[in-house]
Amino acid sequence: MQKKEIIELLNSDGTELFAAADEVRKKYKKDEVHLRGLIEFSNICKRNCAYCGLQARNKKLERYRLLPDEIIEIAKKAANLGYKTVVLQSGEDDFYTTEIICNIVSEIKKLDMALTLSIGEKSYDEYKAYREAGADRYLLRIETTDENLYKKLHPNMSLENRKKCLYNLKKLGYETGSGTLVGIGQEVSSLADDILFFKSLDMDMVGIGPFIPHPNTPLKGEINPKNFDMALKMMAITRLVMPDINIPATTAMETINPNGRIIALQSGANVVMPNITTTKYRSKYEIYPNKICLNDAPETCRSCIEAKIRSIGRYVSDTKGYRKQ
Ligand code: SAH
Repeated sequence: MQKKEIIELLNSDGTELFAAADEVRKKYKKDEVHLRGLIEFSNICKRNCAYCGLQARNKKLERYRLLPDEIIEIAKKAANLGYKTVVLQSGEDDFYTTEIICNIVSEIKKLDMALTLSIGEKSYDEYKAYREAGADRYLLRIETTDENLYKKLHPNMSLENRKKCLYNLKKLGYETGSGTLVGIGQEVSSLADDILFFKSLDMDMVGIGPFIPHPNTPLKGEINPKNFDMALKMMAITRLVMPDINIPATTAMETINPNGRIIALQSGANVVMPNITTTKYRSKYEIYPNKICLNDAPETCRSCIEAKIRSIGRYVSDTKGYRKQ
């Protein structure tokens, strides 16, 4: 697809696009939905991304950090609940040295699960060490490929280094995921560039979410409902352009639309990432406000989403759900 066509689709009402993406999803990914259990293990972060509630400058957030044994315990619980993948996500928290992360990874890999890391920008050698310890996948959204906007929103960071991280992850043999945060000031044309970027890097996973303003950040304000529609269109086009990749129905979509994940699953998505963080920490992992399922136990999240998935004629996979099976 050419950039011009992508822009046209982003400017369309989406009806035909969503139907086409659903068809392509069915052809390449069947009716199988992969669940990835998300463990938000630390909300401590040294960065100051303008949109994110975990930013270091947010002094109103009560911080927490799970110890390696606690993280491994949650992963064991996830395995017992039937999860085939766990995702370890956090702010950029230097407490977790390479050695600590590698220990956590190798312990969890004993549970016969796929393991995904989402812990931000690291050096080639750090990514290499995690990979050698057994990590299978890595998620690092580009957020935006608009260089000026990237610079403005990410103090002391660069688009160039973000890209380098993604090249390195790919080179090390990770199933690599990226994505866009829709509604942080991009032009439609730059959203089209994001999709072409994912394609050019042959990303194995792409997660697209709408921006939800956080009151304790410079981007505070009202939710813009258009971000949901635009995120959904981005996601559907990504399915058309990269038919065999894994695409999540994101939690942020459900946060601004009560049926968001089901709509996404019917518009190209084939993955859901239920939260399996211990209930008492959930509200503190506040990248944006009003996150869903804050008071639910991990067991509840699993059965709730499974019922929703069945209600639309789909089923939960019992495989690890790699891009290429
Ligand atoms: N520190 C890790 C994990 C970040 S949290 C990293 O840098 O990769 C995961 C994702 O949450 C981010 O990539 C971003 O796209 C999203 N996010 C952050 N703030 C948000 C907000 N206010 N609304 C919606 N999504 C947000």
